[in-house]
Amino acid sequence: MTREQIEALQLEGLQETVRHCMHSEFYRKRFQEIGLEPGDIQCLDDLRKIPFTTKQDLRDTYPFGIASVPLEQCTRLHSSSGTTGNPTVILHTDKDIDEWANQVARNLWMVGLRPTDVFQNSSGYGMFTGGLGFQNGAEKMGMLTVPAAAGNSLRQIKFIKDFGTTAIHAVPSYLTRLKEVMDKEGVDPRKDTKLRIFAIGAEPHSEEQRKRIEEMFGVKAYNSFGMSEMCGPGVGFECKQQNGLHFWEDYYIVEIVDPETLEPVPDGEIGELVLTSIRREAMPLLRYRTRDLTRVLGRSCPCGRNHVRIDRMKGRSDDMMVLKGVNIFPIQIEKILMQFPELASNYLITLTTDDDNDNMTVEVELEELFTDDYQRLVALTKDIQRALKDEILLTPHVKLVPKGTLPQSEGKAVRVVDKRKVYQ
Ligand code: ADP
Ligand code: ZN
Repeated sequence: MTREQIEALQLEGLQETVRHCMHSEFYRKRFQEIGLEPGDIQCLDDLRKIPFTTKQDLRDTYPFGIASVPLEQCTRLHSSSGTTGNPTVILHTDKDIDEWANQVARNLWMVGLRPTDVFQNSSGYGMFTGGLGFQNGAEKMGMLTVPAAAGNSLRQIKFIKDFGTTAIHAVPSYLTRLKEVMDKEGVDPRKDTKLRIFAIGAEPHSEEQRKRIEEMFGVKAYNSFGMSEMCGPGVGFECKQQNGLHFWEDYYIVEIVDPETLEPVPDGEIGELVLTSIRREAMPLLRYRTRDLTRVLGRSCPCGRNHVRIDRMKGRSDDMMVLKGVNIFPIQIEKILMQFPELASNYLITLTTDDDNDNMTVEVELEELFTDDYQRLVALTKDIQRALKDEILLTPHVKLVPKGTLPQSEGKAVRVVDKRKVYQ
């Protein structure tokens, strides 16, 4: 589709969605408050007449208050994983589930998967949308789909070998764990498996982390973005160019705004991602503030798709640490750590208050143990500290620990523990 074709579809979808939202108690009231009528949406720029929707709105109307259809028309509910607070509920009709599967199928096809592939979904099932979302999409694409779910690495490896798994979906932090177990079991993914494509997502990760995963397994790993509020995985996905996430603009209108002024920022500038779902039935959300920080990379691509390309997420505004007045995102630290071949992929940042001073300790696992070589350890620690200081302007404590000793979650990785004293 050309940009004109995409935008024509978007306008039609937006107008229909705003009309449909008049069935939502929440949106009807909102529109009345500001005197907005569906007929006021004449062009895409008119989107800006509509107020933002926030996570707080979802919490205030918990569980079903934003729905735009009667509950009996809904066939599923999901809930966000609650990484940053109370969970929120998202309703789906049959049509929503089908459209969602279509987006995931589109992504998997885009990166070269075909019905002859065997797709193992090593992601949590249940309320977490990465399970059923990928399940339905992979089935719709026609692949043999293995609902392995998260964890139990020995069983995962057995499935990979026995079923000839060629593709896996998982959170990136889990895949590095899986490789550790493969190493222990003497399984070489290049020789002993047919793995060739990974979909990795649901949590922020750096380009360096992706490259590591690709090299560890000898596969191509594609970044997959989604959020429960929009449906789940499927919202954005990298094409074979790996030059940003194509967000599917026939399903969503993408805005990037300054989180303070809420005004749109120019392409290339970092801001908060705001999404409007324009094909959903049960619970469309208008101008939803995702709190994810990213930027527009372009609106065309050598792959031929003209759907907007969005940079990998820099983090969520909630993830930002403020230490001694400096704003720091965990991903900045990851980017540096991953540049050291001596380091494995698991790390943990702990913030503490010692003698009224805020401090940061970065614990990171060593790829190989050389704890007897004290001088080498000291030198490496210093190098890491120096590299971190260049990036975050502060010198954290750095602790090198043996591989497999830091906590490992089955779902999204927990990278920051904040134990600082709170001053009132
Ligand atoms: P929760 O908000 O409770 O974590 P979700 O499972 O709906 O529940 O998570 C959606 C969020 O996960 C996104 O808003 C984003 O912060 C993060 N996320 C999802 N995919 C990616 C990705 N590929 N890269 C970075 N962050 C991601
Ligand atoms: Zn592309």
